[in-house]
Amino acid sequence: MKTAGQKPYLKVRYSYLSRQFAEIDPILEGIRELVKSGDFTLGKPVVEFEQKFAALLGARHAVGVGSGTDALFLLLKAVGVGPGDEVITAANTFVATAGAIETAGAKIVFVDCDEKSVIDVRKIEAAITKKTKAILPVHWAGQPADMPKILAIAKKHGLTVVEDACQAIDAAVDGKRCGTFGIGGGFSLHPLKNLNVWGDGGVIITDDEKLRDRLRLLRNHGMSDRDSYAFFAYNSRLDSLQAVVGNHLIKDTKWITDTRIKNAERLDAALGRLKGKVVLSPRSKNERHVYHLYQFFVEDRDALLAYLRERGVDAKVHYPVPLHLQPAAKPLGYKKGDFPIAEAQAARTLTLPVHQHLTDEELAHMTRCVEDFYS
Ligand SMILES: *Cc1c(COP(=O)(O)O)cnc(C)c1O
Repeated sequence: MKTAGQKPYLKVRYSYLSRQFAEIDPILEGIRELVKSGDFTLGKPVVEFEQKFAALLGARHAVGVGSGTDALFLLLKAVGVGPGDEVITAANTFVATAGAIETAGAKIVFVDCDEKSVIDVRKIEAAITKKTKAILPVHWAGQPADMPKILAIAKKHGLTVVEDACQAIDAAVDGKRCGTFGIGGGFSLHPLKNLNVWGDGGVIITDDEKLRDRLRLLRNHGMSDRDSYAFFAYNSRLDSLQAVVGNHLIKDTKWITDTRIKNAERLDAALGRLKGKVVLSPRSKNERHVYHLYQFFVEDRDALLAYLRERGVDAKVHYPVPLHLQPAAKPLGYKKGDFPIAEAQAARTLTLPVHQHLTDEELAHMTRCVEDFYS
């Protein structure tokens, strides 16, 4: 029990942006230069960021867009997904994945997730119909989906694979980066993501030159040049100002992900001792999970959540209600029980801060609180 006179609990916050951007002078200097140049629309900083991002992930091309959601939506449009098509994705994803399919005009088809919280490859084929056009796996929490199996299924059925890698910058399977398995991968630079800017931003990577060119048109009104328009399209460009921020931070990506992985290993070691109380997802040596989220599962989730919050630990639930049970999914006709793993995980999931600016003291405080709760 905490009594009067004792030190208040250490606050372990989920958000670390004030630490991330503690030294903003170099970024502000870059923005000052940008303002002087007036190069605001698809300017030099965007081209520089695209080159750096492609190089970072071992892709041939990167195309900067307005958000992670737009990255997915534009990718689907660019590969020809539209009305009458079905796109398969995981039921446990963030709402934006489904939103991208919907706004591309296609029908969302959910598949349950597995014990790693990625699409269950054993259940994909049962969801394929004559109308299926694409599979959109999500590298949930930074855990790579089983891309070798997904690619094999897609090949067998003649489907396109585009990846939702919004949570998975620098994640990999056998050294190959997430986002480079399918024809294209979408990433988010949102302030809550691992590599973040000062507002919305997104990136698409692809090795396919034709797809890159189509995406460049799609994001910019279909403009081949100022006076000619190849087709009517969208306005979803990566902001030059955000690209300045991205160019500053991108060099730290390796450190960011390595530190998150190290923090997750510490949490795994401590929580792994609470067998029978805490369930951790299986970890695979050949997969680089980059821990956008550090997620685990407990039966008494809400009680543990309240206990942690009282002790200053900013634990969160990602997310309490899976997409197929949301009001938005009503027209799709799903019901409770359709995706038992996603539903069970939604009832038990808890996430702890795992970011790269956590101190040893903060990590120790979090694990001590979970241990205390169960002792
Ligand atoms: C964040 C996120 C998106 C959308 O990214 P925004 O940049 O916020 O539009 C899509 N899918 C997943 C899995 C995400 O976590």
